[in-house]
Amino acid sequence: MSTTKPHELTPTHQAPPRASDVFGMLTFSGDTMMKRLPSDVHASLLKTIEQGLPLDPAVANTVAVAMKDWALDNGATHYCHWFQPLTGMTAEKHDAFLSILGDGTAIEKLSGNQLIQGEPDASSFPSGGIRDTYEARGYTAWDATSPAFLLRNPGGVTTLCIPTAFVSWTGEALDKKTPLLRSIRAVSEQAMRILKIFGTDKGVAQVVATLGCEQEYFLIDRDLYRARLDLTITGRTLIGAMPPKGHQLDDHYFGAIPDRVISFMAAAEHRLFELGVPVKTRHNEVAPGQYELAPTFELANIAADHQMVCMHVLKMTAREFGFECLLHEKPFAGVNGSGKHNNWSLATNTGVNLLDPHEETHHNLQFLTFLCGVIRAVDTHADLLRASIASAANDHRLGANEAPPAIMSIYLGSMLTDILNQLQHGSPKKTIKGGQLDLGAGTLPMLPRAASDRNRTSPFAFTGNKFEFRAVGSTASVAWPNTVLNTIIAESFDAIATAIENKAGKNASGAKLDEAVCSVLKDTVTNHRRVCFDGDGYSAAWHSEAKKRGLPNLRNTSEALPVFESKTAQELFSKYSVLSPIELKARAEVLMELYVTVVGIEARTMATMVRTQILPAATRAQCELADAVGSSRAAGVECPDEELALRNWVQKLSNLRTALATLDKAEHKEFDDIAQHMRQCSDDVVTAMAEVRTHCDSIEKWTPADLWPLPTYAEMLLDR
Ligand code: ADP
Ligand code: MG
Repeated sequence: MSTTKPHELTPTHQAPPRASDVFGMLTFSGDTMMKRLPSDVHASLLKTIEQGLPLDPAVANTVAVAMKDWALDNGATHYCHWFQPLTGMTAEKHDAFLSILGDGTAIEKLSGNQLIQGEPDASSFPSGGIRDTYEARGYTAWDATSPAFLLRNPGGVTTLCIPTAFVSWTGEALDKKTPLLRSIRAVSEQAMRILKIFGTDKGVAQVVATLGCEQEYFLIDRDLYRARLDLTITGRTLIGAMPPKGHQLDDHYFGAIPDRVISFMAAAEHRLFELGVPVKTRHNEVAPGQYELAPTFELANIAADHQMVCMHVLKMTAREFGFECLLHEKPFAGVNGSGKHNNWSLATNTGVNLLDPHEETHHNLQFLTFLCGVIRAVDTHADLLRASIASAANDHRLGANEAPPAIMSIYLGSMLTDILNQLQHGSPKKTIKGGQLDLGAGTLPMLPRAASDRNRTSPFAFTGNKFEFRAVGSTASVAWPNTVLNTIIAESFDAIATAIENKAGKNASGAKLDEAVCSVLKDTVTNHRRVCFDGDGYSAAWHSEAKKRGLPNLRNTSEALPVFESKTAQELFSKYSVLSPIELKARAEVLMELYVTVVGIEARTMATMVRTQILPAATRAQCELADAVGSSRAAGVECPDEELALRNWVQKLSNLRTALATLDKAEHKEFDDIAQHMRQCSDDVVTAMAEVRTHCDSIEKWTPADLWPLPTYAEMLLDR
């Protein structure tokens, strides 16, 4: 099916603006905030933003007026509380800046109360059973730490978006932001204890989580996208035979970016700069049609909000260039899937990265303490970390030989591995150095060489001064995986800080402190280093080795999500006040419900396509074959090859019908218990879909091109 024409790009020869000229122009932050707020109000607000102190409600009215005036000056007509319910998307309900006075005069208004608190009807958002559908009241609460921004559509409609948390009338979190903020506070409190132990907490108000998320995505022609029901409904192709060429030649990765694509990228980046999203890196990814964008890291809460904005801007901008931006983890079977590498670290609010090993790492006991805390956390709660990235979509990507496996492990590299070895045998004495690389050509510079290599098969890799959690899916909101990460790490820091304090006594220093720290770290390394693995995470050998080490391998979502219902999980999240048992249970239910809903929609979409597109096209092909056999025979010519082909074809169609019937049956089963339903979806429905797909793809390979009703993989991926 190749009826569409590639989108033409109109040359404008206009250079995109410099990032520094437009950066943050559409956000209420930095200079804008300083200029528009009285200095005492500004100072008070900064205390909340920069030091994590409680918001002073007395400043709200003044901030609201300034924010409204700024928004109106920039063309806004409406404002909204922008939040992230458990759908995994963002939500917004717009209100005009309009108030009618007693005498009937209309004025533009945003009050302090309207800024601080909203009250959207919460009944249609997932609550995981916390609320009945008739219990509708919910609240949004202003998150002053994430800058308000102006979202402007191509038609010029501008809306002031105020980032908010979303809770039920009974006070339970119904969103992704609230627990993320609580987890940031939890990890900060425990990390501060470690700083205090080392006497480095002076002048530090809080420890912050930092986050930079690389976003992979596909671009395909929008016309082709619209011609496929599976893409429009589910975001991925449910059927589709492999093209003759995929990424075997490695000719796309980091290749020259096609003109239309780079124009799109520049337009998207321009919008993101204006919205204060510091996007920095762009390149072609591994699969044909696949690209990546990465921002400079920010505070985790802001980075998580910006990630949602980024996905929105990519989608909207793509359409202006005749593309559809596919954010799904696995839009195309058989080619590279998309992830969102979650680069995470901890820093003081004064800007010191706590995961920077520095030159002489073996002397840096504070770094080694934080490092061992992370190792302990990932080992102790590997199952929770795995579950935090579980989704129907990510199931297609994880472990598929181009993405990290579902077994959580940490890559440390040779330098740190060596130091852990030393720690196990006493106090570390030396740090392996990378040295220099001599390229052998006099004209090329000597290159400083890092002390460790990189590893792209590890789900959780130390990459110099941060951890890269590579298993996060490309459509995911990063708020949830980071909530889990911060919480399990808070617990580990707590345990390690307590152990050191118990051993050394409070306020110990010098040799006594070093000895206590080394002893605690030695135990930690001994008990938890089984989670460290520097080899090939894709290999079968690692799977059996991981099993021997007793590491969990939760292969899919239906195995992973029930972990959130465990007693350990409940105790962990409530101990650090991140989620109450009720809130955690609700979240698990919502995720499970989402899984079965997504699989159900995919199954029905597939069945519809098979019934209304694939089988009719294949039947037409059958008629052509039958006509050929009939007319040959009528002309007195034997045609055994065509007869055999016809018979085989009829058999193929029959196989497809049988597979479809199995899928229909599996999809129609009803369950009261959500966990049971999830398992059945995973075991029966997903398997039945794979079977249907095999038959469809085999039929596609033999169907005359003019009869095939769908854009093919080659048309979608290889035509630029
Ligand atoms: P690569 O593809 O090699 O992993 P990229 O440059 O594409 O690297 O992305 C690395 C990401 O890590 C960027 O978003 C970067 O800002 C982020 N990052 C760097 N340092 C930190 C840090 N201390 N904390 C969190 N993220 C960081
Ligand atoms: Mg990366």
